[in-house]
Amino acid sequence: MFDDDDDRRDRDDDEEEEEDRRREERKAARKKNPNLVTCARCYSLRHHGVVKNQAAEILMPSFDFGRVVGNKLKRTGPGGAVILLLVDIVDFDASFPIDAVDFLDPYVKDETVDVLLVANKVDLLPTRCTRARVSSFARRRAKSHGLRKAAGVHLVSAHTGMGINTLSEQLMQLLEDGREVWVVGAQNVGKSSLIVRLSRRFDGPGPEDGGPLASHLPGTTLGVVKLPKLLPNGTDVYDTPGLLQPFQVSSRLTGEEARMVLPRRRLSPRTYRVEVGGSIHLGGLARVDYLDGPQRTVYLTVWVSDDVVSHYVVRGENGKADALYEKHAGGKLSPPIGENRVKQLGEWGSRTVTVYGTDWNTSTRDISIGGLGWVGVGVNGEASFRVWTHEGVNVETREALV
Ligand code: GDP
Repeated sequence: MFDDDDDRRDRDDDEEEEEDRRREERKAARKKNPNLVTCARCYSLRHHGVVKNQAAEILMPSFDFGRVVGNKLKRTGPGGAVILLLVDIVDFDASFPIDAVDFLDPYVKDETVDVLLVANKVDLLPTRCTRARVSSFARRRAKSHGLRKAAGVHLVSAHTGMGINTLSEQLMQLLEDGREVWVVGAQNVGKSSLIVRLSRRFDGPGPEDGGPLASHLPGTTLGVVKLPKLLPNGTDVYDTPGLLQPFQVSSRLTGEEARMVLPRRRLSPRTYRVEVGGSIHLGGLARVDYLDGPQRTVYLTVWVSDDVVSHYVVRGENGKADALYEKHAGGKLSPPIGENRVKQLGEWGSRTVTVYGTDWNTSTRDISIGGLGWVGVGVNGEASFRVWTHEGVNVETREALV
């Protein structure tokens, strides 16, 4: 139990500070190596003749969002632009395009652009998630990642069409004469799928019609693509290259491995009762150890794709969890696929995170692991965990999504 409100506030402040610190760390890492911001599709096409995710390259040529998109944005019509900012709801924090949002901030501030935050893939969430709750989750998380203002927050599924009508209605209201629509987001958040969906919603072509959208067949988009008059009122749509977020472990995976990590079906929870000293392996990509907390056991709920193996080791002492990883990462603990791939993913290391939960039998906090999924934590009070993953992969604590 929390002692009193002041204590709770202090803890919330601590978490916020921690979040700010991580954000600054990521920005600093990006400044040191600007090559980390890149268009994955362009890179793969140019260098491999194939589409994204085929190479386990981490450092790739730079895609300068500011230069490419900024110059074009400056030349937008008098009404400015509407930005559809896409995030993947099941990988919210790591798919959030933090650099693009930083860059867009002055335009948002002076109202040259309106941003619609579009959280895609809601079909993957369990049915018990309510729209209101997920929506306020998205709004709060986006704010904490630097999005000053959103003209709307939309939960959609480009696959099932959920939420597309409401999004289209707001778009129609915003599309005055001369406005353009820009679609911005990390790779794999579903930009192409959404554009096709929107085009069809307004009786436009689909990729099979051989029109401009043929370029939206996976992997054929190079650079910024203008889709002239795709939406009503003669509105042009600009599709921007998928930003490669190096802090998503999925961005380092081969095509086959990435397909295992990207969930295809609604996520189903795997809940473990974990003792102090116990560990959960998430394939060979991450591991969460329960170090200490107010209860001897905590409930940890793993939310990852069905194809990612998870495995609980009762007591991690005597190096049991380490030994298991050494022996099976890339094999029984997959993805990655193959022992030789393990080292290619970057140095394996750990960091300690503190979680302040308010209920021991429901997850009130999450530990999210970029490009992989998240672990919901059921604990009443302050608990600490050691999270193992590859260097540079985003690990964050946040309010619980489910
Ligand atoms: P882009 O790289 O941002 O253009 O993303 P794509 O449109 O190519 O989609 C990337 C992957 O996510 C593909 O495997 C899509 O089938 C999948 N995807 C896109 N939208 C959705 C969605 O609404 N729900 C689900 N479950 N998967 C989606």
